[in-house]
Amino acid sequence: MKIFHLSAECYPVAKVGGLADVVGALPKYQNQMGLQAAVVMPFYERKFVQENEWEVVFEASSFLGITRFYFEILKEKTDKLGFELYLIKIPGLLDRENVYSYPDETEQFVAFQIAFLDWITWSQQTPDLIHCHDHHSGLVPFLLYHSKAYHRLAETPTIFTIHNGQYHGAFGWSKLSLLGEIDLTKTGLLEWNGGINPLAAAVKCCWKYTTVSPTYLEELTYQSNGLEYLFYLERAKGFGIINGIDTEIWNPKTDAMIAEKFSIQKLAAGKQKNKEALCERFDLATDRPLITFIGRLVGEKGADLIPEAVRRSILNHPGGVNFFLLGAGELKLQDELIALKDEFPDQCNVFIGYDESLAHLVYAGADFLLMPSRVEPCGLNQLYALRYGTVPMVRTTGGLKDTVIDFGDEGGYGIRFIQASVGDIVHAVGRAVDLYKTTPHLQLIRKRMMALDFSWDRSAKEYVNLYESLKPAI
Ligand code: ADP
Repeated sequence: MKIFHLSAECYPVAKVGGLADVVGALPKYQNQMGLQAAVVMPFYERKFVQENEWEVVFEASSFLGITRFYFEILKEKTDKLGFELYLIKIPGLLDRENVYSYPDETEQFVAFQIAFLDWITWSQQTPDLIHCHDHHSGLVPFLLYHSKAYHRLAETPTIFTIHNGQYHGAFGWSKLSLLGEIDLTKTGLLEWNGGINPLAAAVKCCWKYTTVSPTYLEELTYQSNGLEYLFYLERAKGFGIINGIDTEIWNPKTDAMIAEKFSIQKLAAGKQKNKEALCERFDLATDRPLITFIGRLVGEKGADLIPEAVRRSILNHPGGVNFFLLGAGELKLQDELIALKDEFPDQCNVFIGYDESLAHLVYAGADFLLMPSRVEPCGLNQLYALRYGTVPMVRTTGGLKDTVIDFGDEGGYGIRFIQASVGDIVHAVGRAVDLYKTTPHLQLIRKRMMALDFSWDRSAKEYVNLYESLKPAI
């Protein structure tokens, strides 16, 4: 079965969040299961692209409205990621460093999708399935089924996966002409709330859609930034498949980015060494519970609650708990975290920025990882934390609800709280501090967490089952 995954991100080429981790891993596992899965993404002027060898496998020009654009398809020569990787390069649109936040984002991603469809059409390729991820490739199902240009591929099944339903990529009708010669009787499929909405169009036009956890599938029907009614209507087409983690990259036994490699057998000593390395680097005492946060500093992640929750927790436990916060995002929040560090230099430190290897050390060296998310489609951080014996403290939403059992419940290992509020976080910190004092219980929980299996093997199989359910079309 030949599949194209279409995505704006893919680890290690370009990563902003969990989407990259998923698209960098799922195809590899699918190929190990005998499928032929390839990834197609925009070209970015980034380290991975500069350091690897590429061959131009196709070049042509096409149109974005009345503007002609030239594009190249570059293939990574050695398939070193475990799958064929293609980049679409469009001078002036897709040849930049950053993934998002350019003012012509609509033109960038529409051109990406048109170039992809032109390439497979003109080079006479016939994939068995096209798997689109998030709104950046959300117009592909519509274009496939309702553009004259792609008529040859109109029977191709499409799966659409929602990694984050808060972002829709919406734009105005004045840009309809960017989509080329489409069937104008079908424009209602593009519409939501008065504009062209690529996420809505994808949900309407794809054969099946998936979300990255079962709970998130339900949550979208009442919390999806305006698409609630659509998700309610299309619910029968939806499936929730929890993300896996790439256990080759996230493996405390082999991880070169941590201070001391460790296994479940050498758990206590291994975690201690990593905690010492982390604490030494950030000037924190090691004899206290270390609670950490890793993530984008945005409201979705509950990052705005952290300063007050940390302040109150430190006042509740003077000298009894430490915090380390790693993140980048809204400037106001970045400033607040820096101020927090100045207010409590003995109990709190922060690193503002994106640092992949520091994140690995934090997962390995922390005692607890806090995730007070308002929205969390799946969440990968808690899965990495589990793998490195770090107790996740999570708000029960989306994938966090599906993957973390409270340590007070049978077979549990995490700390759950219900509200995204300062009060609930402070209460959870109190439970963490108490748990830390009962060392044998903490060790038992750590062992239990590290023995859990959240590898891609299981989730990749669920995707394949879904693909196969689309037969006889495939
Ligand atoms: P989202 O995609 O919503 O940001 P996920 O939990 O799905 O959240 O994925 C977040 C990923 O990004 C994880 O791999 C996490 O370790 C990583 N990450 C987030 N912020 C940072 C940061 N500042 N430095 C290093 N890694 C980070």
